[in-house]
Amino acid sequence: MELNKKEIASQLKEAANLLDVLAEDEFRAKAYMNAARQIEGFDGDILILLKENRLTDIRGVGKTVAAEIAYLKTQEALPILEELYVKVPEGVRDLFRVSGLGSKKISALWQNGIASLEGLIEAAGDGRIAALKGFGAKSADKFAEAAKFATEAKRRMRLNIAETLSNAISSVLQERLPELKLEPAGEYRRCCETVGSLEFVVSGVSQDALNSASADIGEKLSLTDEGLTLELEGRLVNFSLVAPEQFATALLYKTGNNSYLEGLEEKAKELGFELSYEGLFKDGSRIKTNAEADLFAALGLEPILPELREEKHPEPINVIELKDIHGQIHNHSSWSDAVHSIREMVAACRNAGFTYLAMADHSRTSYYANGLSIDRVYEQAKEIAEIRQELADEGSDFELLHGIEVDIMTDGSLDYPDEVLKILDYTVVSVHQNFTLSKEDQTRRIIKAVEHPLAKILAHPTGRLLLRRPEYDVDLDQIIDTCAATGTIIEINANPYRLDLDWRWVKKAKAKGCQFSINPDAHHVDGFNDLKYGVMMARKAGLSKEDVVNTAATAKDFLARLKP
Ligand SMILES: [Zn+2]
Ligand SMILES: [Zn+2]
Repeated sequence: MELNKKEIASQLKEAANLLDVLAEDEFRAKAYMNAARQIEGFDGDILILLKENRLTDIRGVGKTVAAEIAYLKTQEALPILEELYVKVPEGVRDLFRVSGLGSKKISALWQNGIASLEGLIEAAGDGRIAALKGFGAKSADKFAEAAKFATEAKRRMRLNIAETLSNAISSVLQERLPELKLEPAGEYRRCCETVGSLEFVVSGVSQDALNSASADIGEKLSLTDEGLTLELEGRLVNFSLVAPEQFATALLYKTGNNSYLEGLEEKAKELGFELSYEGLFKDGSRIKTNAEADLFAALGLEPILPELREEKHPEPINVIELKDIHGQIHNHSSWSDAVHSIREMVAACRNAGFTYLAMADHSRTSYYANGLSIDRVYEQAKEIAEIRQELADEGSDFELLHGIEVDIMTDGSLDYPDEVLKILDYTVVSVHQNFTLSKEDQTRRIIKAVEHPLAKILAHPTGRLLLRRPEYDVDLDQIIDTCAATGTIIEINANPYRLDLDWRWVKKAKAKGCQFSINPDAHHVDGFNDLKYGVMMARKAGLSKEDVVNTAATAKDFLARLKP
């Protein structure tokens, strides 16, 4: 655990919520919630106050709560939480993951014997929730949906977490067992946007050696990176230990998916082979395969990339690679809600070997993200002109584009008048508020925005946050049709929380003639690294570099691929 303002506030809020659920001491619950809010909004260095035992300097933090927080200097959790965890069972605490459920409702559910996510889904199904005071049939359905989402989210991890964990586990094991042969498999190898369990195929060591080394993983990881221990909790990690001659087929089978394997088995049979987890055989004798490539070669088939193995008969295609991308599009600076200045973003982007950077700070309606007023758009244009001059003076070819991430208003209009939009090099347009419109209204809203000639790229088209917030209700077929008809580019947002538009829809949109931009939506110079996740999704969707506009070699060529 990393101790900071956010972590302290989140523990205090949890305590307040659990106190509320118990409904024993309303005053105490309020004191914790109030302290959490004050700490969240506190501008100074909270760790210094904590160290000097001066937390009560913050308005709204009383002596009792301050004493409670002081324990975090030496332990992971507030003592009150340990006490509350005993009183409020885990299943009831899980109900806080259901969007729309607050402590009052959770308390009511618990009193009626509904004490887990599964319990909630079941009770919604048999009409018990609808019969509860303050609920009703409509909200019962809504909570059941949200509980299903929460159940799924609880047992899965985002791709970037899977990657961090997988790399850490591999390196700990390789160090402990130098003779070990290890490959990650499963959903992580197929670059799925979320991963249920980490699968490894291993060979070259004994089961005992593997057991004792893997028992160390948790401990070793906590030594190198405290954050990882938390992520490890409750995550499934599976090792399949196989004989060396079985490694290639075991890797193939552990990678999946099932329908792809079924298709491949059928093909192998047609060709007179027998393919299974155990190996590849012809006329009863084993065909030697050291790697997956040998398997495909023996069968006389084109190899299929793991990320494309999502259907029975995928086509071998030349998919886009990270190195094909030359420009970083849709990025934020300290002008709105990001960390670095435009100059710092330019420097980082140049160092990373890209040839152009396209900024897109928030527009005025996103006031919580410090969105730009019309005056500030013009001021920013001046700064961009200055930076371009500096680059030219240096003799650099690096190009900087001025864009804005323009909010799509509820009625589908854009957040600035056309004369403001016209001074920009390009725009990304996106929905940031009013997620709960009806499907018809949300669809109409986005279609109207996409039809605007100055809306060049539709950003994060469904608003989903993986494992956190489902997509808003919208008719994607209609939106994709409109993008295709108007030449509006569809974003593949590369932030591992988003990966939006979903690759399955990207595949459909490509078939309808759409073009895409893979964008990091960076709010920090490190955000540029997220581009790789967007490229993984593009590969899963079977995109080639021709389908992606920011593979253009120069900013001018990139702009030429946007609608006129
Ligand atoms: Zn956005
Ligand atoms: Zn953005």
